[in-house]
Amino acid sequence: MKKTILSVAVVAASLFAISCKQHSNEKVASNSNDSILVENIQYVILAEEQSSANNKAYSQKATEEKHKNVAKLFTAKAKADSLRAEKHKAVLAKITDTTKLPPRPAPKAVVPKTTPENLKQSINDDEYQITIVYPNYIEQAVMMGDSLTVTTLQWASEGRANDKSYGVAVLETVSQNGSDMNVSDTWFVCPACGSISDSMPTAGTKNCNQCGVVEQDYIVVKN
Ligand SMILES: [Zn+2]
Repeated sequence: MKKTILSVAVVAASLFAISCKQHSNEKVASNSNDSILVENIQYVILAEEQSSANNKAYSQKATEEKHKNVAKLFTAKAKADSLRAEKHKAVLAKITDTTKLPPRPAPKAVVPKTTPENLKQSINDDEYQITIVYPNYIEQAVMMGDSLTVTTLQWASEGRANDKSYGVAVLETVSQNGSDMNVSDTWFVCPACGSISDSMPTAGTKNCNQCGVVEQDYIVVKN
């Protein structure tokens, strides 16, 4: 497990280094603080888009392996990742002229393993984002006094933490039972922050447990 986490960290750190290198000479923002924010936001867009692509591939594999409820969890996670990427893109557009940025690389193709292994991989990625990437970037955004970026990064980090907790619970269920019969067959995705849930959040108020936004239009992932 440690080796896997280390590999994920090394890959992610490499991506970050490449990202920084790619943009180190770009004059895309008005000052150095903005440039750091731009680089950071570009990185989390890339990370969320890659995670979405991974989770889509894991969902397809879970369907092939007859784990249809886990497949829905992965689909919900993929949608949440995409929502977070869109939120980051909106923030980026407010900070800099995105037409002057170099094209963002497409997500890399992932080769899924078994469903339990894919769950572990997805959990490890969430763990890396919520313990290393987002806290670091939130701290930098706070120092720069950019409240919009801070809020978006915080929601994304909380959403990822939430996703991870469901991943851990589902992995435990699948490992114990050898099937996903006891895993929820319906998942809800908050359109505001991308948090997922296996039930309509906070019955009665319909407030998202993560971002607190009242939402009537939760994305429902079911049959
Ligand atoms: Zn929310």
